[in-house]
Amino acid sequence: MDVRSAAAAVLSGLGRTREDMEDLYRHLHQHPELSHQETTTAATVAERLRSDGYEVTTAVGGTGVVGVLRNGDGPTVLLRADMDALPVREETGLPYASTVTATDGEGTAVPVMHACGHDVHVATLLCAAGLLAASREQWRGGLVVLFQPAEEVGDGARGMVEDGLAEAVGTVDVAFAQHVLPLPAGIVGTRTGAVLSAADSMRITVHGRGAHGSMPQAAVDPVVLASMIVVRLQTVISREVAPTEPAVLTVGSIHAGTKSNVIGDRAVLELNIRTYDEQTRAGVLAAIRRVVTAECEASAAPTAPEFEMFDRFPTTTNDAATTAKVAAAFRDHFGERAIELPLQSASEDFSDIPTALGVPYTYWGIGGIDPDRYRAAAAAGRVAEDIPVNHSPFFAPVIEPTLSTGTEALVVAALSYLAPSA
Ligand code: ZN
Ligand code: ZN
Repeated sequence: MDVRSAAAAVLSGLGRTREDMEDLYRHLHQHPELSHQETTTAATVAERLRSDGYEVTTAVGGTGVVGVLRNGDGPTVLLRADMDALPVREETGLPYASTVTATDGEGTAVPVMHACGHDVHVATLLCAAGLLAASREQWRGGLVVLFQPAEEVGDGARGMVEDGLAEAVGTVDVAFAQHVLPLPAGIVGTRTGAVLSAADSMRITVHGRGAHGSMPQAAVDPVVLASMIVVRLQTVISREVAPTEPAVLTVGSIHAGTKSNVIGDRAVLELNIRTYDEQTRAGVLAAIRRVVTAECEASAAPTAPEFEMFDRFPTTTNDAATTAKVAAAFRDHFGERAIELPLQSASEDFSDIPTALGVPYTYWGIGGIDPDRYRAAAAAGRVAEDIPVNHSPFFAPVIEPTLSTGTEALVVAALSYLAPSA
């Protein structure tokens, strides 16, 4: 028995379950839930896992669900899906588009949409879990399927870790996760080493002294101070980070003042920082503090600036040996549809789970865009303009071959560890 024939045997059940998976996907897409509110999704997940024979633990870190299936001696593989949706008003026009609204953490009513494709992740992992449970004669070892809340706000994985995840999963040897991306559907992309960036958001409050707009001599103008900071921050990446090291620093918002003839007393800036290496990350964050503090001093600000960190994501760095093993199994199964994934500028909190469990991991991407549509956009040089990306109100993965590809990728990756070698 090898991975290829075990995968063929397990996936022979896909034809029977495909319709059910598609119905489940459309249901999840129509019923998206915000981060930390994934209660009905979690209930659906738990019910299905129980009926497939998994030992299920619910409410791990809020709405997290863990299913464990032991099947003789062998390594244990953890497969992870995230469950949350986004405060986005869906504009795809799909017959199964979401019309849901919900109340966010601040008490505001917001539209909700699966704009990041986490419904693809849930549907494919449930399908893979069902197929593997139904063909236990094809593999040996342990299978842990993990459904995580609140990826979009960066603390769902950590919440599960801090709420006894290690006990719920038992021994694990390797961890996998996947994400649907704006690539042609049917494609599976792996990458060794850095694959996703670390993300940090920073809220900076700088203080000035308010006065009449006609009497600047009485003021310390926070608008000018904040403007200096924005300009000076442009040099952090361009002058302090090596050109071979990717990094992004964006000032996403800046708020100051109320009226043209009033000089306010403060400005608030919100920054987003992406890096792929912990040393670069620490250097950039320290440089930001240094620049802001010095600019406040240069402007004679009456009090020191305040820094608040939020929405922080770890780096995602794929283990070389694990990635090589999974990539080889993907090449064997998918042929030319298995590609090398380009470095992604997005971030994820998945790595918090294998890091806490002390196990290697690999994280891959699957395409979700209609291949013909993608080809047409690529031929016209209009991929950036014409292909909606994750978090867009128009992000609409095609159901097939996206769902089959995602399911097959999970099964093949799991079997690359669990199929008994010939
Ligand atoms: Zn997202
Ligand atoms: Zn996502």
